[in-house]
Amino acid sequence: MNGHDAMLEDVAVYALGALPREQARAVREHLASCAECAAEYRRLKPAVDAVAYSAEACPDAASGAVVPNPRLKTRIMDEVRRSVPTRLSNVGEMRAVRPIVWPAYAVAAACLAVALITTAFNISLNEELHQTEAQVAQLGTHAKMLTRQVAAQNTELVDLTSSDSQHYAVEDGEVVRHGNRLYIAMDSMGTPPRGKVYQAWIMRKGAAKMTPSVTFMPDRKGIAVIHVPTQASQVAEVAVSMEPEGGSKQPTSKPTFIVKLT
Ligand SMILES: [Zn+2]
Repeated sequence: MNGHDAMLEDVAVYALGALPREQARAVREHLASCAECAAEYRRLKPAVDAVAYSAEACPDAASGAVVPNPRLKTRIMDEVRRSVPTRLSNVGEMRAVRPIVWPAYAVAAACLAVALITTAFNISLNEELHQTEAQVAQLGTHAKMLTRQVAAQNTELVDLTSSDSQHYAVEDGEVVRHGNRLYIAMDSMGTPPRGKVYQAWIMRKGAAKMTPSVTFMPDRKGIAVIHVPTQASQVAEVAVSMEPEGGSKQPTSKPTFIVKLT
C-alpha cells in the first residue's frame, strides 16, 4: 500500500474528526497537495457535518421509523477511536502498528447512511417549515389588507358623519362631500337587471361633458356606500346611471339622479 492509498483511508477517519493529532496533521498536509484525497474529503465532510449538527436520527430496528438518537455520534466516534491507534509519536511508526483499517471505512459508510436518513428527516421538517412560513406570510398580507380596509372604512365613517360634511340629498340616498373626498351613499337602490350595474359620473368644474367614474352594485337591501375617486373640490355635478357591466364611456341611460354640488 503506498502513502496515498493509506492516506485515502485516513481521510474518512479525519473527516469524522477521530484521527489522533499527529495523523490528522499528516492528512491535512497531504490534502493540500493531493486532489484525489481532497475530493474524497469534500465528499465525506458534509455528510459527517450533517450527523454532527442535525438532530441525529437512525432507523428504529423494530418499526423501521426514523427516530432521534442523541447517542449515535458518540457511538460512532467511540467505534472509530477503537479502530485507530492513539498513542503514536510519528506517522512512520503508526503505519507499522496500524490495525486493520476497514472498520474505519465501514464506520464512514454507516455515517453516510445515517446522514442520508437524517437529511431525509430534515427535508420533511424543512418542507413543513416552508409551508408554515408561507402560511404566516399569507396571514401577514391578509392582516395588512384588513388593516387598510378598516382604516379606509374609518375614514369613510368619519367623512359621512362629520358635522362639517356637506350632504346633497338625491332619490334613495345622498351625495356627501368632506374636504376633498366625495361619496355616494344610497339606502334603497333597486337591484339592476342581469348584466347591468350602476355607474357614477362626475362633471368637473368648467367641463362640458360627464367623466365616467366607478361602477358599483348595491347590496341586497339596496345599500351602497361608494367612494368616488376624484378631487371633490373640482367637481360641479355628480350623477348615477344604469350601464352594462364594465361601465360605459358615456351614459347610455337616463341618470338615476344628477345633483349639483354648491
Ligand atoms: Zn492522496
